[in-house]
Amino acid sequence: MTSPITSLLLLGASGDLAGRLLLPALGQLLDAEPERQGVTLVGAGSEDWDATTWQDRLRTSFASAQVSSATVDAVLATTRYEKCDVTDSAAMGALIASCPPAPAIYFALPPAVTVKACTGLQGVPLPAGTALVLEKPFGLDHASAASLNALLAELVPESQVHRVDHFLGRSTVLNLIGLRFANRLLEPVWNATHVESVDIIFDEQLTLENRARYYDSAGALVDMIQSHLLQVLALVAMEPPARVDELEMRDSMAVALRACHLWQDDPATAGRRARYTAGSVDGREVPDYTAEPGVDPARQTETLAELTVEIANWRWAGVPFRLRSGKSLGERRKEVVLTFKQVPHLPGGLTGSSTPNQLRLLMGPDRLALELTVNGPGDPMELDHVSLETDLRAGRLPAYGEVLAGVLDGDPLLAVRGDSAEQCWRIVDPVIQAWRDNRAPLEAYAAGSHGPEGWV
Ligand code: NDP
Repeated sequence: MTSPITSLLLLGASGDLAGRLLLPALGQLLDAEPERQGVTLVGAGSEDWDATTWQDRLRTSFASAQVSSATVDAVLATTRYEKCDVTDSAAMGALIASCPPAPAIYFALPPAVTVKACTGLQGVPLPAGTALVLEKPFGLDHASAASLNALLAELVPESQVHRVDHFLGRSTVLNLIGLRFANRLLEPVWNATHVESVDIIFDEQLTLENRARYYDSAGALVDMIQSHLLQVLALVAMEPPARVDELEMRDSMAVALRACHLWQDDPATAGRRARYTAGSVDGREVPDYTAEPGVDPARQTETLAELTVEIANWRWAGVPFRLRSGKSLGERRKEVVLTFKQVPHLPGGLTGSSTPNQLRLLMGPDRLALELTVNGPGDPMELDHVSLETDLRAGRLPAYGEVLAGVLDGDPLLAVRGDSAEQCWRIVDPVIQAWRDNRAPLEAYAAGSHGPEGWV
């Protein structure tokens, strides 16, 4: 694929995302693939920085990722920083015109500022091939995501819009695709006839980590389930694509999401929510969530969310897909678990129980575990359980390095397509409303526990 992208215009270059994640990942990408060093990096933001301040920031970010001095020198030789109010259409027009065409414009900005900046671009001629890179959250609900999509569609074709989902790196996505579709053994049982339930879990030991400004108005449902775990669900549930490319893959994922609806169509019971109280995680004392700086207890923000959905199609009807994510939990657990139905008949004479087979796909680092029932040692009539496990191949780059590689290659394979972004909001919007209306209880769990009493 030949890409027209020759410059990376980083808006919000003085912000946290840029400094902590994007610039280090860019350095690692350029280290791993030096042929990309011809891309010009232009930083922009509201800070009035001179060349030295910008270069110091780059050096610091690159040092945090142990980027080689050859790459640092190559970037510093061509990069520059411009002070610019990104909501000022004329200033943005001049800035974009000064970048080698075609630029990839990365909106590392507060979401409301991104919307204003995109609105301002309506009057700006964009070079052919310009890519627009948008961070999460993409919209605040279905209606705002749809209107942002309509705005973007006026600016560039959909294939040039990258809605970033850094959660699943390229290698994790491809590991899942390879496992599902390159094994004769698995695909025939990957359906409601054989699968009892699917769990997609992202439990963190991390606490709020000073992110109250963003997190306290988002919560676990929007922060993780709406934006990331529904994309994982789409990969697990989709029909086999003819090719691994952005068109086939994203079509298949969109079809799965369109078939997805809340369990029993009841927003009050399809979701559960809880908030952590004081406790201890891995030996660290954690205060009550509501005592964290910047938290407004009246918002009733959940730090643990669970959503159950059904995919109403021939393959999956009747199978609950449970998506769960939370903070300050006792165990770090990031995995997709397919639980298979019990065998229809266990031959008489065998003793012990045959537990359901499970296929577990662990994420970051990627691993695979297949839980089987076998004859145990000693008395061969007695059943036992084993887990067959293997590591899956890790990617060369951090997740944001893979995001940037996709952007620079003009390949949105890993980006969320506009219709899918809207579908994810369509699925969760009624639950958010039910929680706002207090139609579901906000439960409590002690930091360091496995969640509230009674949750699996
Ligand atoms: P920050 O608030 O740290 O940074 C935002 C940047 O935008 C600042 O450099 C700010 O400059 C700049 N900015 C704001 N208004 C303007 C303007 N009118 N003109 C020019 N520059 C402006 O936010 P983050 O970096 O944390 O987040 C950016 C985006 O990335 C958000 O959408 C967030 O949800 C997303 N994200 C962030 C992650 C993170 O870990 N930080 C992780 C995943 C996604 P100034 O401060 O000088 O106003």
